[in-house]
Amino acid sequence: MTEHTLTVAGVTVDTRHWIGGRRVASAETFTDVSPIDGSTIGEISRGTALEAAAAVAAAKAAFPVWAATSRAERARILHAVADGVEKRIEDLSIVETTDNGALLRSHRRGVMPRVAHNFRFFADWLLKLEHEDFETRGHTNHVSWDPAGPSVLITPWNAPLMLATWKVAPALAAGNTVVLKPAEWSPLTASLLADIAAEAGLPAGVLNVVQGYGSEIGDALTSHPDVRRISFTGSVPTARRIAESAAGNLTPLSLELGGKSPLLVFADADLDLAVDLAVEQYDNAGQVCLAATRFLVEESVAEEFTRRFVEKAATLTQGDPRHETTDIGPNIHPRQLEKIDAFVQRALAAGARAVIGGHRKDTQYYAPTLLTDVAQDSEIVQEEVFGPVLTLQTFSTEEEAVRLANDTRFGLAATLATADAERAERVTAQLVAGTVWVNCFFVRDLQAPFGGSRHSGVGREGGTWSFDFYCDLKNTVIAPNGWKSHG
Ligand code: NAD
Repeated sequence: MTEHTLTVAGVTVDTRHWIGGRRVASAETFTDVSPIDGSTIGEISRGTALEAAAAVAAAKAAFPVWAATSRAERARILHAVADGVEKRIEDLSIVETTDNGALLRSHRRGVMPRVAHNFRFFADWLLKLEHEDFETRGHTNHVSWDPAGPSVLITPWNAPLMLATWKVAPALAAGNTVVLKPAEWSPLTASLLADIAAEAGLPAGVLNVVQGYGSEIGDALTSHPDVRRISFTGSVPTARRIAESAAGNLTPLSLELGGKSPLLVFADADLDLAVDLAVEQYDNAGQVCLAATRFLVEESVAEEFTRRFVEKAATLTQGDPRHETTDIGPNIHPRQLEKIDAFVQRALAAGARAVIGGHRKDTQYYAPTLLTDVAQDSEIVQEEVFGPVLTLQTFSTEEEAVRLANDTRFGLAATLATADAERAERVTAQLVAGTVWVNCFFVRDLQAPFGGSRHSGVGREGGTWSFDFYCDLKNTVIAPNGWKSHG
């Protein structure tokens, strides 16, 4: 450990920003704490408007060359970044788990391979990105994807590197340069990504990382006139502030926000499958935007569903996320735990009943909770808790199920458990949700659009939709025989 590095299980992490291909320290630092036990991991450079401006300037300076770099070369470098991620899966996994408390086994086997895949997928997609020409009265309309410019990418703490690279990879593939601002509660893997990208040959200034509190550094990034795209994943209140800040320059925004998604269990469903899907909602200690936190269960099977759910939930092991047998880790921060508990205590005071849980275990862990006797218009049904807290309501008709499912201000996802294909089609058509899962959860192809409706987001990313966002689309109309007539 030096003044500007820390170590996590033997892995060295630079604690400074990465700007224009070099490490830059701020005068001030903030303390990064591990959710596993509340211990201090280290002191991290605390960015200000100064570092924000320097990072945007570096991204602006690097943009013309990167934008003009051939698609094949950009794709080659992104594959090299993926190689670098794959070589360091163990390092990235232990650092991420220490920093955000999510399961080490998930990081090793699912999340970090997906991080590498994000780079490979968008590199390969870039090489396939073509649009058919349109013909109008003999004129050719040729559509091209021009890189938009420096892009600010702001990410949350619940899946730090996965969500960061979901943005970084397509932005870089598109030919944009990037300023990445990771969340202050989990900044470490972004710093490792900067090391990996530099080793892979990504030119200086193409990827910049600035750390710090959103409230201190956010505005300087999002109101900057040289920034041409802002992609944000996080909460609704922050999204509003970013939208206001970006409005001055009309900077295009992509917003991936929160949710209060339903799990609809129909009486015809395979109940064991439904219970498996239900218990999965405790993954990442409930800190998943897509989580189906509202169980809507057909009355006739509600008792049996609840019985099996309680039985299954009792088999989950909660504890140190580094252990192979752990199913549920800690919540990110004692402040988050307080927030979660306040939601639950208010719900209980309003008449809810805790079928399981309903309390914290200590300062880092919250007992997996299921609440019933909750009113549709109550806070616990309407607002995102972002912890291991689920509610259960019943319905007696399909119409009622759809009405309850849609009756929040969100529209991120919905999950159905039903054995009836026609019902699935009918219900899906009526649901307001960016993603609907039928008898499954969380699986999706990166070619498909991803995003939310209503307060769950603005825009879609994934496959071509990511390139639509990160590029300025251009239509070039070429006259028939134009070359001849102009000599
Ligand atoms: P948050 O909004 O508090 O913070 C997210 C990021 O925004 C952090 O990096 C933070 O520093 C930054 N930020 C804060 N204030 C800012 C400002 N004024 N200007 C610019 N940046 C600012 O969210 P969080 O608590 O870190 O994350 C949890 C939220 O993220 C939940 O609502 C969750 O549902 C949502 N989320 C959504 C998705 C999705 O894909 N839809 C995925 C994961 C998480």
